Amino acid sequence: MNIIDRPALAPLTTLGIGGRALAEIRLDNPEDCLRLPEALAAAGGFVRVLGGGSNLLVHDGDLPFTVLRPLFGAKGPDGRPAEPDILGEEDGPDGRRVLIRAGSGMRVPHLLAWCAARDLAGLEGLVGVPGRLGGAVAMNAGAYGCSTAPLMRSLDVFTPEKGLHTLSPEGWKAAYRHFSLVEPCAWYMSVSVTLSLRRAKPGSVRAAMKENFLRKKSGQPVHEHTAGCVFQNPEGQSAGRLLDAAGMKGRRRGAMFFSPMHANFLAHDMKCGVPGLCEDALFLIREAQRAVREKFGVELVMEVKEWSSCPC
Ligand SMILES: Cc1cc2nc3c(=O)[nH]c(=O)nc-3n(C[C@H](O)[C@H](O)[C@H](O)COP(=O)(O)OP(=O)(O)OC[C@H]3O[C@@H](n4cnc5c(N)ncnc54)[C@H](O)[C@@H]3O)c2cc1C
Repeated sequence: MNIIDRPALAPLTTLGIGGRALAEIRLDNPEDCLRLPEALAAAGGFVRVLGGGSNLLVHDGDLPFTVLRPLFGAKGPDGRPAEPDILGEEDGPDGRRVLIRAGSGMRVPHLLAWCAARDLAGLEGLVGVPGRLGGAVAMNAGAYGCSTAPLMRSLDVFTPEKGLHTLSPEGWKAAYRHFSLVEPCAWYMSVSVTLSLRRAKPGSVRAAMKENFLRKKSGQPVHEHTAGCVFQNPEGQSAGRLLDAAGMKGRRRGAMFFSPMHANFLAHDMKCGVPGLCEDALFLIREAQRAVREKFGVELVMEVKEWSSCPC
């Protein structure tokens, strides 16, 4: 366990904005969870759990929370990226499946490369998602017909109420970009995840990932500093198309702008000489919600998680 006082959060997010937390607690091993209650009491404030920071909108200024940074399974003893454990096999309706367990701190691109090298299918839609596995679980991340939750067989979590324990699928609820525990808890931190992946034809997983990445790259600003899609797609509609039709594409305030390539991506221009502010991002977000409401009567719901001074 490593504790950092008053960390700057902007460098820990892909959008690159936000102020400072009270403390950052880095956890490398599940055993670190034993010391967590004491460390949290000393750090103060409420708790936020950070993955790869690729779906976050962090407020400016001094923020009254402590950030937990679960890095379980991020690195092996030699300092190189760790590998998932292969637990065994099971029969599925679509053929043999392989059960793997990975730490929640494992980077999604690393996990995908590992799957591609072993022809293990299921996560190909997550290509281009820059987060960590714990974040992919918490967001039920997905694209191109894939999402994380249906592949999960068990989840090791830490909660302040029950400490470290293991959940089976009855222990969580998942929906489009939503994941929560059934048991009541103030917050939870994923520690490791067991996934069931399908054995696929040699080379087919890598080919599917390549195809998905080319598709993503042709329609999304993957090289800009963004937090992915700002808004969830309303049922049967595309948030990007609604925002485009409401005139939000390219709209700018300070260093923040809606991408001219895809209006559902709010980006941070890090080279314009003006500091990126969450205040500007929120101004644009409210403007976009108002424009879409007035033109189409549709209420856009944020997909990115806002980390403000409020524990709500
Ligand atoms: C270029 C780009 C492309 C993207 N493409 C997609 C896409 O195709 N599909 C998609 O679904 N998303 C996409 N995203 C959004 C984002 O990458 C995903 O939501 C991702 O899963 C978030 O993971 P993270 O580790 O970065 O989580 P963070 O951003 O760090 O956190 C997101 C949420 O997860 C919680 N969380 C993180 N780790 C844990 C943990 N261990 N335990 C409990 N809670 C935790 C946080 O508290 C927060 O509420 C994209 C983002 C970018 C920047």
